[in-house]
Amino acid sequence: MKTLIDKQRTFFNTNRTKDPNFRIEQLKRLKVLLLANQERLNKAIYADFKKSPFETFTNEFGLVFLGIDEACKKLKKWSKHKRVRTNWINFPAKSYIIPEPLGVSLVIGAWNYPYQLSFAPVIAAIAAGNTVILKPSELPSNTSRLIAELINQHFDEAFFHVVEGGIPETTALLEQHFDKIFFTGSPNVGRVVYQAAAKHLTPVTLELGGKSPAIFTEDADLKMGIKRLVWAKFLNSGQTCIAPDYLLIPRSLKDQFLAMAKKEILQARYSVENGNYIQIINDRNIQRLKGLIDPEKVYFGGDINEVERIIEPTILYPVTFQDTVMQEEIFGPLLPVLTYDSLDEAISEIKKREKPLSCYIFTKDSSLKNKLLTELSFGGGAINEGIMHISNSRLPFGGVGQSGTGSYHGEAGFRAFSHYKSVLEKANWLETKLKYSPYSERKLKWIKRLMRI
Ligand code: NAD
Repeated sequence: MKTLIDKQRTFFNTNRTKDPNFRIEQLKRLKVLLLANQERLNKAIYADFKKSPFETFTNEFGLVFLGIDEACKKLKKWSKHKRVRTNWINFPAKSYIIPEPLGVSLVIGAWNYPYQLSFAPVIAAIAAGNTVILKPSELPSNTSRLIAELINQHFDEAFFHVVEGGIPETTALLEQHFDKIFFTGSPNVGRVVYQAAAKHLTPVTLELGGKSPAIFTEDADLKMGIKRLVWAKFLNSGQTCIAPDYLLIPRSLKDQFLAMAKKEILQARYSVENGNYIQIINDRNIQRLKGLIDPEKVYFGGDINEVERIIEPTILYPVTFQDTVMQEEIFGPLLPVLTYDSLDEAISEIKKREKPLSCYIFTKDSSLKNKLLTELSFGGGAINEGIMHISNSRLPFGGVGQSGTGSYHGEAGFRAFSHYKSVLEKANWLETKLKYSPYSERKLKWIKRLMRI
């Protein structure tokens, strides 16, 4: 690991990555490589958890390619020195900010969108001029192996290299001195990463998870809201960091909601064969999810095929905040439905818990929307929609508090991997005596007068 990092640091110090054209060239090379190997990449992810080519494109590579195109188009603009006004104390001078790459970066990916969550941060790292070591999640072993094979065959390891492995390999990597660590995963492992980074005072971006609520208000458009909520919840079989984890609904709407949600699920015809449903990643997660289902609260679904690793889309009702399913992030196709009598009560319950990665508000009432947006803190979210905010690269994507620190996508990604170096450039044709000794009462009076204090 040390040799690899030393190689990358030596390469970084040649300043090649400081040239925006070099970065564009590397990003284009990545796109060509991924496009040329789409079939193999599709097969690998299907072997891991039966994700269809349709969803592999829409949820993984579509976003990766858009990210590459955007970075290639805009990274010269993002890298420009930015002039800012100079304060009068420094007259005559100019002031500007230089975005500079941090150096050797480490990207650690999660398993649930193995391509997107590996390559989207890598694109940001390269666009900003860093070298990269990528450690994809080991759980989808076929995708991890193929990512390593393709990247390590086509990129110089001094610039971009993939290290495969699980906890021991990641631990060994984390002992090294990086200039930036970008981690996607659970809050618990996020803590491990943060602690390791602290040893070297390495800046981190932590893209974590949590229990993201969806809230319907009395006036919500039920038909449209349920369609979007159900899609967002059961996409990737619920194994999405920003999936609506649980639903809060006014008591008066519960019967209507439950009947309509059931109908929507049936109409979507979720199945591996239809390409819109995938396996649970492994047996451990099957057992974990099984333990979250209270059989007495299954309103719809609940069937588990352990051999095929499939859990039916499941609605749990009536659920309370005390139930087991409400004690951890679900990360699977279970939708607990909780009722509330007043919106303030719902807000108060959400606020008793850690700040979520996302929140989805279904309402037509702008005063209720504003109330919820003002009172709740969350990483990002959507009004009358679920998870689609992730697709707008102009919206920085990230958590807050326990759901993460820092953000990326689009220019936010470039910023995550950059240092903004502030420079004051002074002219030599004038110098006042005010700041120099010998000090005097008169000088101080002048300083105060100029400072208007
Ligand atoms: P995880 O934390 O178990 O693993 C993430 C990465 O950390 C993997 O590469 C793994 O090899 C490594 N790792 C695991 N244990 C480690 C340890 N003890 N020391 C060092 N490295 C270790 O997360 P996961 O199961 O892959 O993903 C699920 C979690 O990730 C959920 O909480 C989900 O919400 C979150 N997530 C967040 C985002 C986001 O963008 N915010 C995206 C996807 C997933």
